[in-house]
Amino acid sequence: MIGRFAPTPSGPLHFGSLVAALASFCQARASGRQWLLRIEDVDTPRVVEGAATLILRDLEAFGFEWDGPVLHQSDRFEFYRAQLERLWSQGDCFACACSRRSLREQGVASGILGQIYPGNCRARGLSAAGHSIRLNTRDAGSIGFEDGIYGRFDLDLEREVGDFVLQRRDGIYAYHLAVVVDDEEQGVDEIVRGADLLENTCLHIYLQQRLGFATPRYLHLPLVNNADGVKLSKQTGALALDSQRAPALLVAALRHLGQQPPGGLAQATVAEVIGWSLANWRLDRIPAAKPIAAEALEAG
Ligand code: GLU
Repeated sequence: MIGRFAPTPSGPLHFGSLVAALASFCQARASGRQWLLRIEDVDTPRVVEGAATLILRDLEAFGFEWDGPVLHQSDRFEFYRAQLERLWSQGDCFACACSRRSLREQGVASGILGQIYPGNCRARGLSAAGHSIRLNTRDAGSIGFEDGIYGRFDLDLEREVGDFVLQRRDGIYAYHLAVVVDDEEQGVDEIVRGADLLENTCLHIYLQQRLGFATPRYLHLPLVNNADGVKLSKQTGALALDSQRAPALLVAALRHLGQQPPGGLAQATVAEVIGWSLANWRLDRIPAAKPIAAEALEAG
């Protein structure tokens, strides 16, 4: 039984990622799981030099201990290619010559995850070279799951998302492919992450089905919004965390997660706060993640 935390190294740890780290850590440990750490640097142009090192240093300063070696997606391209080739040979994906701009010029509709690709190149039989590769969602229908916090969530993939990209024209593998392949190959059976990925989970489940992978249990955490109600992220100016204030920040993260730390815990040591968190972890106290407005998603 395995859980994980999978930060993208586009900046240092911020409060939103601390919440995800703490919840995934406590939930893994409380349920007898290993807790793995994976650096999601698949989108190499977006990686900020040195950010992964900063994240690891912060996680240590905040008292987290992970199991086994840290996995880096940038070391795993051959595995993503192997699974993409399987999808290709099964006829599940196709090469596409459309750009975001050409789709915009055609007036393609936008959904919660951006442009809803209308299947233009599905039947063109283009070769993979020099094109993006998209998953064909023609037979996907409605994909749903029972989230451990949010409850039931369903999405009609073809109608609401469209054929999504698995490999960009520049060769970069999509996060959707990488995350599904990694979670399968690392044996992850429970995923705890922010509710900004609720919709994406339906894409991941469809990919798991096409690849014959098991679907893990999912728990999506309430997002941390900034003062404007926009999801806190590196792009929306989330501040780096001051590890000098680690106990107080951990206590704030516990409160965000509906846990009820005693007054005075913020003055304890990091080890004491982590110890309290593990001993008193209550999944049922986490407030249900709310459905997220599309504007907030796009801003995040
Ligand atoms: N890498 C993603 C992020 O930092 C999280 C992905 C996941 O947990 O599946 O937002």
